[in-house]
Amino acid sequence: MKIKKIEHIGIAVKDLKKTIEFYESVLGLKCYKIEEVKDQKVKTAFLKVGETKIELLETTDNDGPIGKFIEKKGEGLHHIAYSVEGLNSSLNEISNQQIKLIDEKPKQGADNLDIAFIHPKSANGVLIELCEERK
Ligand code: ZN
Repeated sequence: MKIKKIEHIGIAVKDLKKTIEFYESVLGLKCYKIEEVKDQKVKTAFLKVGETKIELLETTDNDGPIGKFIEKKGEGLHHIAYSVEGLNSSLNEISNQQIKLIDEKPKQGADNLDIAFIHPKSANGVLIELCEERK
């Protein structure tokens, strides 16, 4: 598997609008996109930090993955996303090593990415997202 860079860091938040305000006025970053991913029951906002991005995630449904995460752990760091060369082959490589994947196959993520998650139980408690730009 070949990882190119940290694509983004995902942060679970309760109030997307207020959080964007914080990132823009306090940190001086600029939100360039707000996008809802219906499938994931989440509204996302993206801010660029050099080569990397911050992805803010607000749930649109308390039963969605971000809703459940916030209920259990509160707001905070949710996942780290690495961009890989060849998402499908990377996933095959990983499952061949008996590592637990949440997604055996890529699914559609926000900001024009195909994504798949590695289970945090197989990754020292960190939710790892692998992603590749959708062609
Ligand atoms: Zn992400």
